[in-house]
Amino acid sequence: MDYKTLDITNPTEEHAMLREMVRDWVRSEVEPQALEFDRDEKFNHQLLRDMGELGLLGITAPEEYGGAGMDALAATIVHEELSYSDPGFALAYLAHSMLFVNNLSRNGNSTQKQEILPKVCSGEWIGAMAMSEPDVGTDVMSMSTTAEQRDDGNWVINGRKMWITNGCIDEEGTPCDVVWTYAKTGVNENGRAEISTFLVFADSPGFSVGQKIVDKTGMRGSNTAELVYDDCVVGPDSLVGACGESMIHMMRNLELERLTLAAMSLGIARRSVKEMNRYASEREAFGRPIRDFGQIQRYIGQSFAEWRGMEAYLYNVARQMDVEKSGNRLDSDGIKLVSTTLAKDIADRAMQVMGGYGYVGEYVVERLWRDAKLLEIGGGTLESHQKNITKDLAKDSSILG
Ligand SMILES: Cc1cc2nc3c(=O)[nH]c(=O)nc-3n(C[C@H](O)[C@H](O)[C@H](O)COP(=O)(O)OP(=O)(O)OC[C@H]3O[C@@H](n4cnc5c(N)ncnc54)[C@H](O)[C@@H]3O)c2cc1C
Repeated sequence: MDYKTLDITNPTEEHAMLREMVRDWVRSEVEPQALEFDRDEKFNHQLLRDMGELGLLGITAPEEYGGAGMDALAATIVHEELSYSDPGFALAYLAHSMLFVNNLSRNGNSTQKQEILPKVCSGEWIGAMAMSEPDVGTDVMSMSTTAEQRDDGNWVINGRKMWITNGCIDEEGTPCDVVWTYAKTGVNENGRAEISTFLVFADSPGFSVGQKIVDKTGMRGSNTAELVYDDCVVGPDSLVGACGESMIHMMRNLELERLTLAAMSLGIARRSVKEMNRYASEREAFGRPIRDFGQIQRYIGQSFAEWRGMEAYLYNVARQMDVEKSGNRLDSDGIKLVSTTLAKDIADRAMQVMGGYGYVGEYVVERLWRDAKLLEIGGGTLESHQKNITKDLAKDSSILG
């Protein structure tokens, strides 16, 4: 293909078809429910399950286990399109498909993949990933949840996990089916914690939902829960990979998580530009459409240019990302750092352009504005991205020429 005609957001026909299919589905199924589920603070778990039939729940999972076997750019497309209508629902999708399904696809053994992947790819099971705790987020190596192996080979997990998306699937506190759980299994010779990964199931003895967290600012269409592990027993085959080596799992998956959180930001930005642009033509003041006013032009022009900048950076990082391995922390941190704040700022300008209407749920942008804030916190705070980028550039600054 001629590089001048290449559409970086749909570099192959397969990507273009995927975008069209997801966009149509989002318009007919996701958009109509978004306002209600946000208002009621409810997770539409049936809608997530429906995505299994479309082949989207295992977008990056191998085909032999029921996945679509697609790449990071395909995952980026799905998150952007979902978030255009409903970032809360998109977050639930991300927790399931990226934090659980992709993690297991890359790091699980063949038995674990055979037994679990078909269920999570079809939507029969809903998954989550539990890393954060009530007292520990960014400083993940200080986690206090522990796992100890008993003489009979079973593992006993003790601790609490906080802020877990999809941790419960309804208002009654029903847990999701399977949780990718990080726990401390020892300390190495340098005194550093050794973290291991366990697959914990809804019916694992000693596992329960502590609470569904309510009154969140945004992302109310996804459920967030505290999970409790009280002498929780899981079998020896629940350990993923080698004991103490979960830093590898975290690093492999974190780059894709950050890329797709940035893709959610792009969806918010594009929708916000669309809404403010439309409104600026329809609304009149002082006998003229408000788009004739220089201050409104500044909001629209600035937002349009920032959205296009985010889009180019995002799809360039997506194109280069290999779901099989880590290796581009610099740019996955970079795109998430810049695009999350831009999305929040652009949604804010959309509200400003739309005046009082922009402040009301029916006009969409106030929900996007609330949802956007979470993206500056979850999957790594802005400060952690600043820290990582500065650290990585100290090691290798060849990208700067
Ligand atoms: C709606 C929602 C959904 C979530 N979903 C999940 C999930 O599915 N699974 C999961 O495991 N977690 C999840 N999280 C947790 C999320 O990843 C954490 O909130 C995030 O990592 C930040 O951790 P913290 O809240 O403990 O803040 P802290 O780490 O305590 O940070 C507080 C402040 O201190 C700053 N700070 C910390 N260390 C440094 C430093 N070294 N230098 C400078 N500043 C620093 C932070 O940047 C931040 O500004 C979710 C959170 C929310 C709100």
